[in-house]
Amino acid sequence: MTSKSIVALEGVAKTYGAFTALHPTDLAIAEGEFVTLLGPSGCGKTTTLRLIGGFEQASAGRILIAGQDVTERAPYHRPVNTVFQDYALFPNMSVSDNIGYGLSVKSNNVPKAERAKRVGEAVTLVGLEGMAHRRPGELSGGQRQRVAMARAIVRRPRVLLLDEPLSALDVKLREGMQVELKRLHRELGITFLMVTHDQTEALALSDRIVVMNQGRISQIGSPIELYDNPANPYVADFIGGANLVSAELIGRDGDTAAFGIGNGIVVHSRRAAAVREPGRGITLGIRPERFLTATSGATNSLECVIRESLFHGDRLRLELALDGTAMPLFAELPRTAISSPSGVEPGSHITLLVDPDDVLVFSKEEDQE
Ligand code: ATP
Repeated sequence: MTSKSIVALEGVAKTYGAFTALHPTDLAIAEGEFVTLLGPSGCGKTTTLRLIGGFEQASAGRILIAGQDVTERAPYHRPVNTVFQDYALFPNMSVSDNIGYGLSVKSNNVPKAERAKRVGEAVTLVGLEGMAHRRPGELSGGQRQRVAMARAIVRRPRVLLLDEPLSALDVKLREGMQVELKRLHRELGITFLMVTHDQTEALALSDRIVVMNQGRISQIGSPIELYDNPANPYVADFIGGANLVSAELIGRDGDTAAFGIGNGIVVHSRRAAAVREPGRGITLGIRPERFLTATSGATNSLECVIRESLFHGDRLRLELALDGTAMPLFAELPRTAISSPSGVEPGSHITLLVDPDDVLVFSKEEDQE
């Protein structure tokens, strides 16, 4: 852990009885970063956030915020604030009273004039001018979300913790609020740590993403690093839904390795430098959008049968089976790659191609997470 980290977990673990929700974990977040904890339901992301916020007590390890050990401190005595999934607004208070509440409680007694000034600034920052006197029941879901944000930032925390902050919003509003979150992060200049199970949201917003799986960190990296160089099949699947295929190394020619994937089908990759020993235990990953249409016989051409095609505007998502096998594959192709609608009828044959640079290779040791 570096002393520059605004948040540092050192061997932090959480157990509930015999169940381990978070295995001993190290994590360092730099001041001003936008970091997302991403993973499926039950992977331990909310537990991690709640440990940092002080709403759960760590079973082991230390939590440092701004260089201070806060492991034993109550939430209110940590320089962080949380935006909860359900916003947790007071229904009988006005927007401005909800926002100012944290400034008026005893342990944070800000003088009245200063309080009004800060509430006013927060209202403007989240775009709620003219609504300060309304009650939460008189606001839309998106406006309530803004109140929750304003209430969390008005205390000027060093770190803002966001627990699935956009999950209650419909898709359209959610996209708008993503842009708002990004803008707020830039304008406030503070550290954001957000929990989400939505990979698109994590990719769009984060400086770095922490991918979690069953109470462990599976990989940490920038969105581009995770997309281009996933460390294991789990991350390749969770970020971008790569096709995963069991394979064995059957040969190598310079920097290109040949893998058998069954039924005599061979796939070449130029990303297999680390795989030396011929044999099984390899998983190949191919992103659906990396397939091209091709003529039969080219290197890395795969004969497929279409099972289903889904229309996505300028792209088509195809569910396929490799010819002669039951192995399912997904491909996303530009609509212009298909000459006629009948070309994607269920049962039609199609030849796909993938560049050997786009075939990800995972050996067994990397499969663990
Ligand atoms: P979700 O997206 O569904 O909120 P999550 O990744 O945030 O999932 P956590 O809430 O961190 O998951 O929970 C991690 C695991 O710990 C889950 O299996 C959950 O059932 C368990 N867990 C959480 N809180 C408790 C508790 N108070 N007692 C027992 N088990 C718990």
